[in-house]
Amino acid sequence: MTKKYEREEIESVCTYCGVGCDITGVVENNKIVKIFAQKDGVVSEGKLCIKGKYGYDFVDAKDRIREPRIKKTFLEKNPHIQKQFSSKLSEFDTNYMTCDLDTATTIAAMKLSEIKEKYGSDSFCAIGGARTSCESAYAFQKFCRETMDSPHVDNCARVCHSPSLKGMRATIGEGAATNPYNDIYECEYMIVIGSNTMEAHPIIANRIVDMAKKHNNLAVIDVRETKLARLAKHNCVIPYEANLLILNMMAYVIIDEELYDESFINNRTKGFEEFKEKILNDPYADPSFFKEVEGYEYLAKTIPNIAREYAVKKSMIFWGLGITEHLDGSYAVMAITHLALMTGNVGKTGAGLMPLRGQNNVQGACDMGCLPYFAPDYQKPKVEGLMTPQLVDAMIEGRIKGLLNMGEDITHIHPNVNKTEKAIGELEFLMVQELFMNDIAQRADMVIGVRSAYEKTGVYVNAMRRLHLSQPLVKSDLPDDWEVLTQMAQKLGDRENFNFKTSEDVWNEVREVAPRRFSGADYYRLARHRKRGMQWPIYHEDTPVLHLLDFRTDDGLGKYVYKQYEPRGMVQEIMEKRFYNDSLEGYYLTTGRTLAHYNNAAQTKRSSKLDTKYDEDVLLASLEDEERFGDKVILKSEYGESEALTVKYTEKVKAKTLFCTFHHAKSRINALFGDECDELIMTARFKSVKVDVIPVGDE
Ligand code: SF4
Repeated sequence: MTKKYEREEIESVCTYCGVGCDITGVVENNKIVKIFAQKDGVVSEGKLCIKGKYGYDFVDAKDRIREPRIKKTFLEKNPHIQKQFSSKLSEFDTNYMTCDLDTATTIAAMKLSEIKEKYGSDSFCAIGGARTSCESAYAFQKFCRETMDSPHVDNCARVCHSPSLKGMRATIGEGAATNPYNDIYECEYMIVIGSNTMEAHPIIANRIVDMAKKHNNLAVIDVRETKLARLAKHNCVIPYEANLLILNMMAYVIIDEELYDESFINNRTKGFEEFKEKILNDPYADPSFFKEVEGYEYLAKTIPNIAREYAVKKSMIFWGLGITEHLDGSYAVMAITHLALMTGNVGKTGAGLMPLRGQNNVQGACDMGCLPYFAPDYQKPKVEGLMTPQLVDAMIEGRIKGLLNMGEDITHIHPNVNKTEKAIGELEFLMVQELFMNDIAQRADMVIGVRSAYEKTGVYVNAMRRLHLSQPLVKSDLPDDWEVLTQMAQKLGDRENFNFKTSEDVWNEVREVAPRRFSGADYYRLARHRKRGMQWPIYHEDTPVLHLLDFRTDDGLGKYVYKQYEPRGMVQEIMEKRFYNDSLEGYYLTTGRTLAHYNNAAQTKRSSKLDTKYDEDVLLASLEDEERFGDKVILKSEYGESEALTVKYTEKVKAKTLFCTFHHAKSRINALFGDECDELIMTARFKSVKVDVIPVGDE
């Protein structure tokens, strides 16, 4: 009998970045054959970037993890488990045994229970990614906090936008974008700082580009000339680690020239007079400081011009990890919100603050409480847990013995990979829920293959707080993350607490636990509004623009948290005349994405259309280094060494600075970064590390 041919078009949401584009998947016989943007898509506006369009081959890639795998070395170290389950285990390959899901979760529960009993409940931790749904993220933190009774849960926001959450909460009380993307069409002026928007958030960039072309109203501030900067009125290349300096300077100009909005300041904020005094007396806040910084003298004029234009217009500021991944990332975010508070550029349509969140559901994972210091809905947890860098130390010290990892490739994507690898090696049990055998999965004692976003139902929250109820494009026999967690919790005796049968059951509990944000967002309503989407907080209506009447601070007023910039690194070296020299030592390196790949590239590199041109990381260097470097170089820092990297030369990178993508574990780029991190929230200083360059000769 011939199989019936089935073709469907199913609406869902892109699985990659935080933009959260609405997509339509064309599915033939349970296989995705095409993805396109919905013409009337509120987010996509009818266009997808190449990741969204072509990045779906991973779904039925041959090397998907289809069955639980248990490392033979783990079974040898745990002979009682091997003995008890021998009849259920069968050979997978030379390194792994395999079994059914029920057996795997029984073994996992048994091992976790042993760890809890032997070393105490806080010897367990859970580190998750933010590519899975809210339902799975919620179940993840609940499993850690309630079933395992450990406070140590964290998510990938630790290495990206935790400083945005910290900085925005300290000043305006809510760590999320204040406006919808389409407010870009309503604003009169835009500043993009520390964001390679055209490659990292391309569909938001489309709107910015449109407006910049029409109105010449864009300022781009970065350590290199990004693609977006070429369209900017002010293309402002700044020294490394100078964000807080630049932002304080803008505040200085606005105050010094009295360009601030007095009525907004008086009615909506508190502490301005004190802040004003501090900024005016700040030894580095006068932009004329840059007259002494060789190679960057033009900033003495450009920064005041940007500040003036921003202050007098209805303006928005966009930022990415170029702001957050620094020693003073949280303070830089506060300095951004100061500008908005002083000029009344927040709490209205067409004026606001937009942190460009990275992963498709990183806003949702934080909303669900996958943070050591916030329970769901940003409530205080009973006990605060450790942040990921502290957990890595605790693993090395033997205080953490068990790690549940859900989709976060920490031995590739996190800093100081030599140290992280050592820490992982000290664990007694590492369990990973993943799609592919990426770096962390290869180190795990047990790996459970789970559904991808295109195979399941679930809620995702994008960078503008928009909830999207995703529906599966294809059917899958694999479990969803929350199902694995539910099975384990029940086997650990937490049956009543973990009584979920469907993702909707989990979501309904989220709505009860976080009523302010989600009570009005049941599955039925989200499905009905799938096209338009709904932005939290959602009661009867949703909330496209935040802070219209007051801020989410204790008294409803916006706050100023002044922090003086202290010269360091590159700025200090230039001022002391020791930065520019012919040595191959002392280069400043920053890293970032390329358009075709997403983070560890686990999904994108399985698409031939995306991977063929970008199958290795690429280092960008300035033209003047071409003769000295040659085709390939190794980079070396005090923490580690990269593999040989292919170099491309461009006038977009300034002298003695470098840019490199980080998508391929084999490059070992993240071995170059150490433990330096945001002083408040421990986000790694990924956007600046000093390296020496070792040419490895032409090939
Ligand atoms: Fe997907 Fe982001 Fe590209 Fe949109 S911009 S298609 S969400 S990767």
